[in-house]
Amino acid sequence: MSPLPDNFALARRRMVQEQIAARGVRDQRLLKAMQEVPRHLFVDEALWSQAYNDHPLSIGEGQTISQPYMVALMSDALGLTGGEKVLEIGTGSGYQTAILARLCDWVYSIERILGLSRQAQRVLEKIGVFNVNLVVGDGTKGHPREAPYDAIMVTAGAPQVPQPLLGQLKQGGRLVVPVGDKHLQNLMRVTRRGEEFISEDLGGCRFVNLIGEHGW
Ligand code: SAH
Repeated sequence: MSPLPDNFALARRRMVQEQIAARGVRDQRLLKAMQEVPRHLFVDEALWSQAYNDHPLSIGEGQTISQPYMVALMSDALGLTGGEKVLEIGTGSGYQTAILARLCDWVYSIERILGLSRQAQRVLEKIGVFNVNLVVGDGTKGHPREAPYDAIMVTAGAPQVPQPLLGQLKQGGRLVVPVGDKHLQNLMRVTRRGEEFISEDLGGCRFVNLIGEHGW
Protein backbone atom coordinates (compact mmCIF):
# COMPACT_ATOMS: atom_id res chain seq x y z
CA MET A 1 0.00 0.00 0.00
CA SER A 2 1.39 3.42 -0.87
CA PRO A 3 0.08 6.11 1.46
CA LEU A 4 -1.75 8.87 -0.39
CA PRO A 5 -0.20 12.30 0.16
CA ASP A 6 -2.37 14.16 2.63
CA ASN A 7 -2.39 17.06 5.07
CA PHE A 8 -2.62 14.88 8.15
CA ALA A 9 0.84 13.29 8.24
CA LEU A 10 1.92 15.62 11.05
CA ALA A 11 -1.24 14.92 13.08
CA ARG A 12 -0.56 11.21 12.62
CA ARG A 13 3.05 11.55 13.75
CA ARG A 14 1.89 13.26 16.94
CA MET A 15 -0.79 10.60 17.46
CA VAL A 16 1.82 7.84 17.18
CA GLN A 17 4.33 9.56 19.45
CA GLU A 18 2.03 10.97 22.12
CA GLN A 19 -0.77 8.40 22.33
CA ILE A 20 0.88 5.14 21.28
CA ALA A 21 4.68 5.04 21.62
CA ALA A 22 4.49 7.11 24.84
CA ARG A 23 2.17 4.47 26.33
CA GLY A 24 4.64 1.69 25.72
CA VAL A 25 3.93 0.25 22.26
CA ARG A 26 7.34 -0.72 20.77
CA ASP A 27 6.55 -2.82 17.67
CA GLN A 28 8.11 -0.81 14.84
CA ARG A 29 5.93 -2.37 12.14
CA LEU A 30 2.83 -1.42 14.09
CA LEU A 31 4.03 2.15 14.71
CA LYS A 32 4.84 2.48 11.00
CA ALA A 33 1.43 1.16 9.99
CA MET A 34 -0.28 3.69 12.25
CA GLN A 35 1.96 6.43 10.89
CA GLU A 36 0.95 5.58 7.33
CA VAL A 37 -2.72 4.53 7.31
CA PRO A 38 -4.85 7.68 6.75
CA ARG A 39 -7.30 7.29 9.65
CA HIS A 40 -9.31 10.38 8.69
CA LEU A 41 -10.54 8.68 5.51
CA PHE A 42 -12.40 6.13 7.67
CA VAL A 43 -14.66 8.81 9.21
CA ASP A 44 -17.05 11.39 7.80
CA GLU A 45 -15.35 14.47 6.38
CA ALA A 46 -17.01 16.60 9.09
CA LEU A 47 -14.91 14.67 11.66
CA TRP A 48 -11.55 14.81 9.86
CA SER A 49 -10.20 17.45 12.25
CA GLN A 50 -10.81 15.04 15.17
CA ALA A 51 -9.61 11.89 13.46
CA TYR A 52 -6.22 11.82 15.22
CA ASN A 53 -7.51 12.70 18.68
CA ASP A 54 -7.26 10.35 21.65
CA HIS A 55 -10.84 9.00 21.59
CA PRO A 56 -13.33 6.95 19.55
CA LEU A 57 -15.54 8.67 16.95
CA SER A 58 -19.00 7.96 15.55
CA ILE A 59 -19.19 6.11 12.22
CA GLY A 60 -23.02 6.06 12.02
CA GLU A 61 -25.46 3.18 12.71
CA GLY A 62 -24.76 3.73 16.45
CA GLN A 63 -21.20 2.35 16.02
CA THR A 64 -17.73 3.83 16.59
CA ILE A 65 -14.20 3.72 15.22
CA SER A 66 -12.04 2.69 18.17
CA GLN A 67 -9.61 5.04 19.93
CA PRO A 68 -6.20 4.91 18.18
CA TYR A 69 -4.47 3.57 21.30
CA MET A 70 -7.01 0.74 21.62
CA VAL A 71 -6.34 -0.22 17.98
CA ALA A 72 -2.61 -0.29 18.77
CA LEU A 73 -3.00 -2.21 22.03
CA MET A 74 -5.21 -4.90 20.47
CA SER A 75 -3.00 -5.25 17.39
CA ASP A 76 0.11 -5.48 19.58
CA ALA A 77 -1.54 -8.18 21.70
CA LEU A 78 -1.85 -10.45 18.65
CA GLY A 79 1.96 -10.50 18.21
CA LEU A 80 1.82 -10.56 14.40
CA THR A 81 5.03 -11.02 12.41
CA GLY A 82 3.79 -10.93 8.81
CA GLY A 83 2.75 -14.40 7.65
CA GLU A 84 -0.49 -14.83 9.56
CA LYS A 85 -4.10 -15.40 8.55
CA VAL A 86 -6.23 -13.21 10.82
CA LEU A 87 -9.97 -13.05 11.51
CA GLU A 88 -11.52 -9.76 12.69
CA ILE A 89 -15.07 -9.56 14.08
CA GLY A 90 -16.58 -6.07 13.68
CA THR A 91 -15.22 -4.39 10.53
CA GLY A 92 -16.94 -1.11 11.39
CA SER A 93 -15.07 1.67 9.57
CA GLY A 94 -12.38 -0.73 8.32
CA TYR A 95 -9.57 1.21 10.03
CA GLN A 96 -8.50 -1.66 12.30
CA THR A 97 -8.76 -3.94 9.27
CA ALA A 98 -6.30 -1.73 7.37
CA ILE A 99 -3.83 -1.80 10.26
CA LEU A 100 -4.07 -5.60 10.54
CA ALA A 101 -3.62 -5.92 6.77
CA ARG A 102 -0.26 -4.17 7.11
CA LEU A 103 0.88 -6.58 9.82
CA CYS A 104 -0.10 -9.99 8.45
CA ASP A 105 -0.66 -11.91 5.23
CA TRP A 106 -4.45 -11.93 4.97
CA VAL A 107 -7.41 -10.56 6.95
CA TYR A 108 -10.98 -11.89 6.93
CA SER A 109 -13.24 -9.31 8.57
CA ILE A 110 -16.92 -9.83 9.45
CA GLU A 111 -19.46 -7.05 9.98
CA ARG A 112 -23.18 -7.48 10.71
CA ILE A 113 -24.25 -4.12 9.21
CA LEU A 114 -24.15 -4.21 5.41
CA GLY A 115 -23.83 -0.41 4.97
CA LEU A 116 -20.73 -0.24 7.17
CA SER A 117 -19.09 -3.15 5.36
CA ARG A 118 -19.74 -1.54 1.96
CA GLN A 119 -18.32 1.80 3.10
CA ALA A 120 -15.26 0.08 4.61
CA GLN A 121 -14.70 -1.76 1.33
CA ARG A 122 -14.73 1.53 -0.59
CA VAL A 123 -12.13 3.15 1.67
CA LEU A 124 -9.87 0.08 1.74
CA GLU A 125 -9.88 -0.07 -2.07
CA LYS A 126 -9.21 3.66 -2.30
CA ILE A 127 -6.08 3.40 -0.17
CA GLY A 128 -4.91 0.22 -1.88
CA VAL A 129 -5.51 -2.44 0.79
CA PHE A 130 -6.21 -5.64 -1.12
CA ASN A 131 -5.19 -8.49 1.22
CA VAL A 132 -8.57 -8.47 2.96
CA ASN A 133 -11.92 -10.20 2.50
CA LEU A 134 -14.92 -8.42 4.01
CA VAL A 135 -17.83 -10.66 4.97
CA VAL A 136 -21.34 -9.63 6.10
CA GLY A 137 -22.88 -11.76 8.84
CA ASP A 138 -22.83 -12.76 12.50
CA GLY A 139 -19.17 -12.90 13.46
CA THR A 140 -19.87 -14.48 16.85
CA LYS A 141 -19.97 -17.76 14.93
CA GLY A 142 -16.57 -17.00 13.41
CA HIS A 143 -15.84 -17.84 9.77
CA PRO A 144 -15.48 -21.64 9.65
CA ARG A 145 -14.83 -21.75 5.91
CA GLU A 146 -11.32 -20.27 6.26
CA ALA A 147 -10.51 -21.60 9.76
CA PRO A 148 -8.21 -22.15 11.57
CA TYR A 149 -6.67 -18.71 12.15
CA ASP A 150 -3.34 -17.64 13.65
CA ALA A 151 -5.08 -14.76 15.38
CA ILE A 152 -8.63 -13.49 15.97
CA MET A 153 -9.65 -9.99 17.09
CA VAL A 154 -13.14 -9.04 18.29
CA THR A 155 -13.74 -5.27 18.24
CA ALA A 156 -17.08 -5.27 20.10
CA GLY A 157 -17.85 -6.12 23.74
CA ALA A 158 -19.04 -9.67 24.47
CA PRO A 159 -20.84 -11.14 27.52
CA GLN A 160 -18.37 -14.06 27.39
CA VAL A 161 -15.72 -15.38 25.00
CA PRO A 162 -17.71 -16.61 21.96
CA GLN A 163 -17.06 -20.37 22.02
CA PRO A 164 -16.95 -20.96 18.24
CA LEU A 165 -13.97 -18.60 17.99
CA LEU A 166 -11.88 -20.78 20.31
CA GLY A 167 -12.38 -23.75 18.03
CA GLN A 168 -11.21 -21.71 15.03
CA LEU A 169 -7.81 -20.85 16.58
CA LYS A 170 -4.66 -22.63 15.43
CA GLN A 171 -2.28 -24.18 17.97
CA GLY A 172 -0.49 -21.25 19.60
CA GLY A 173 -3.11 -18.92 18.14
CA ARG A 174 -4.21 -15.75 19.98
CA LEU A 175 -7.71 -14.29 20.42
CA VAL A 176 -8.29 -10.79 21.80
CA VAL A 177 -11.82 -9.92 22.89
CA PRO A 178 -13.41 -7.39 25.26
CA VAL A 179 -15.52 -9.34 27.80
CA GLY A 180 -17.84 -7.85 30.40
CA ASP A 181 -21.23 -6.18 30.72
CA LYS A 182 -22.87 -3.88 28.17
CA HIS A 183 -21.00 -0.79 29.36
CA LEU A 184 -17.57 -1.86 30.62
CA GLN A 185 -15.36 -4.76 29.66
CA ASN A 186 -11.90 -6.20 30.22
CA LEU A 187 -9.71 -6.84 27.23
CA MET A 188 -8.95 -10.57 27.35
CA ARG A 189 -6.24 -12.41 25.43
CA VAL A 190 -6.77 -16.15 25.06
CA THR A 191 -3.92 -18.33 23.75
CA ARG A 192 -4.51 -21.88 22.54
CA ARG A 193 -2.09 -24.52 23.87
CA GLY A 194 -3.33 -27.92 22.73
CA GLU A 195 -6.88 -28.17 24.01
CA GLU A 196 -6.05 -25.72 26.79
CA PHE A 197 -6.89 -22.04 26.55
CA ILE A 198 -4.81 -19.62 28.60
CA SER A 199 -6.51 -16.30 29.49
CA GLU A 200 -4.83 -13.01 30.37
CA ASP A 201 -6.54 -9.77 31.38
CA LEU A 202 -5.02 -6.81 29.52
CA GLY A 203 -7.09 -4.17 31.32
CA GLY A 204 -10.36 -2.26 31.30
CA CYS A 205 -12.01 -1.00 28.12
CA ARG A 206 -15.32 0.21 26.70
CA PHE A 207 -16.75 -1.07 23.40
CA VAL A 208 -20.08 -1.12 21.58
CA ASN A 209 -21.99 -4.38 22.02
CA LEU A 210 -21.24 -7.58 20.14
CA ILE A 211 -24.68 -8.60 18.91
CA GLY A 212 -25.36 -12.16 17.76
CA GLU A 213 -25.89 -15.79 18.61
CA HIS A 214 -22.83 -15.98 20.89
CA GLY A 215 -22.96 -12.29 21.90
CA TRP A 216 -25.69 -10.09 23.35
N1 SAH B 1 -12.79 -2.07 14.32
C1 SAH B 1 -13.85 -1.13 14.12
C2 SAH B 1 -14.74 -1.10 15.34
C3 SAH B 1 -16.13 -0.84 14.99
S1 SAH B 1 -17.26 -0.93 16.37
C4 SAH B 1 -13.32 0.25 13.82
O1 SAH B 1 -12.28 0.60 14.39
O2 SAH B 1 -13.94 0.98 13.07
C5 SAH B 1 -17.68 -2.65 16.37
C6 SAH B 1 -18.37 -3.17 15.16
O3 SAH B 1 -18.77 -4.51 15.42
C7 SAH B 1 -19.62 -2.42 14.74
O4 SAH B 1 -19.50 -1.99 13.43
C8 SAH B 1 -20.73 -3.48 14.88
O5 SAH B 1 -21.75 -3.36 13.90
C9 SAH B 1 -19.96 -4.76 14.72
N2 SAH B 1 -20.60 -5.96 15.25
C10 SAH B 1 -21.31 -6.11 16.40
N3 SAH B 1 -21.69 -7.38 16.55
C11 SAH B 1 -21.22 -8.07 15.47
C12 SAH B 1 -21.30 -9.43 15.05
N4 SAH B 1 -21.93 -10.37 15.74
N5 SAH B 1 -20.69 -9.77 13.88
C13 SAH B 1 -20.04 -8.85 13.14
N6 SAH B 1 -19.94 -7.55 13.49
C14 SAH B 1 -20.52 -7.16 14.65
